[in-house]
Amino acid sequence: MTPAACRFCGAPIETVFADLGMSPLANSYLPPERANAMEPFYPLRALVCEQCLLVQLQQFETPEAIFSDYAYFSSYSTTWLEHSRRYVEAMIERWGLGASSHVVELASNDGYLLQYFVERGVPVLGVEPAANVAAAAVERGVPTFVEFFGVATAERLAAERKADLLLGNNVLAHVPDLNDFVAGMKVLLADDGVITMEFPHLLRLIEDNQYDTIYHEHFSYFSFLTVRRVFAAHGLRLFDVEELETHGGSLRIYGAHEDDDAKPETERARELLAREEAAGLTDLATYRGYAQRVTDDKRAVLSLLIALKREGRTIVGYGAPAKGNTLLNYCGIGTDFLDYTVDLNPHKQGHLLPGSHVPIRPVEALRETRPDVVVILPWNLRAEIMEQHAYVREWGGRFAARAPELQLLP
Ligand SMILES: [Zn+2]
Repeated sequence: MTPAACRFCGAPIETVFADLGMSPLANSYLPPERANAMEPFYPLRALVCEQCLLVQLQQFETPEAIFSDYAYFSSYSTTWLEHSRRYVEAMIERWGLGASSHVVELASNDGYLLQYFVERGVPVLGVEPAANVAAAAVERGVPTFVEFFGVATAERLAAERKADLLLGNNVLAHVPDLNDFVAGMKVLLADDGVITMEFPHLLRLIEDNQYDTIYHEHFSYFSFLTVRRVFAAHGLRLFDVEELETHGGSLRIYGAHEDDDAKPETERARELLAREEAAGLTDLATYRGYAQRVTDDKRAVLSLLIALKREGRTIVGYGAPAKGNTLLNYCGIGTDFLDYTVDLNPHKQGHLLPGSHVPIRPVEALRETRPDVVVILPWNLRAEIMEQHAYVREWGGRFAARAPELQLLP
């Protein structure tokens, strides 16, 4: 087999970063009538490019198959809504945005973020490839263009109006054609405009052993070092960066045209580069050494669940996120361990998790069945979930989450 080409620099890539075996697409929730039908499984193996050190997955399906009818509606997480509202206020303040500005969001989902700009009278446009979530955005008054973003889309949009603020949260990592996407941003950005992008930080993935954030839709895993290199190749300069706690540790990068001298590099950008280098992210051996930690964690997760079952405890899941599906499929956890999982999203309820076939029930099932242990699959939201469902403790129930090892929480 010829090795795949790096999605950024084109070099052949063969070095394994993490091998999670064969897995179904993380968002292909099954209706119960398809429980006995065949499900496609694809290799879930992250590789690292020896030339540019970009950690990435190979693509085995078309983006349309992966992303159309995407069941994720951002509005179902209150923590995420609050994060977005604060972001909008900060951007309006820092860049002086108002009625004459133009804000464009790439992968604008159901308009959960742009709605806050609309409330403040700032004109917006969303770009969102999933027609069903885009329809929800239009309903809440967020104009939305239904298409995958790249140079061709950017040229059409730029002919109308360039973006003073061009943002994308949790999209850069999901882009199959990374170079076309970043080149498109160069086209659509106004001369003195600002780009902000948020995505999970590879440094945190490695430090906190967050291999369950690897799933087929998530093609690229960026450090600040690699993302700077990608933007620079397209004439864009990253001048600032913030470290956020969202999704277990994300970066918010700030980009501008390379010749926009009004935006000098900040101290925190220089400091993060130095810290990534000190953590070994410029050294191929760091990436090569990660795979063993993944295998060790699988054994630890199974040991805890087996011990709990041997004590006769009932275990259920909370949430049906992509990271839960990675964990359950990689570790081989099905209804032999988790009786069911619950999710707030009515589009997921009544379905089965892909691969593991754990049924997804409404949250009320917790009160009805009083499980002994509730494993929080979206561990990044565990504080919010434990607070909302504190009543689980009334019958002696315990929460568990990977943090980073799977453990019972106090
Ligand atoms: Zn490369």
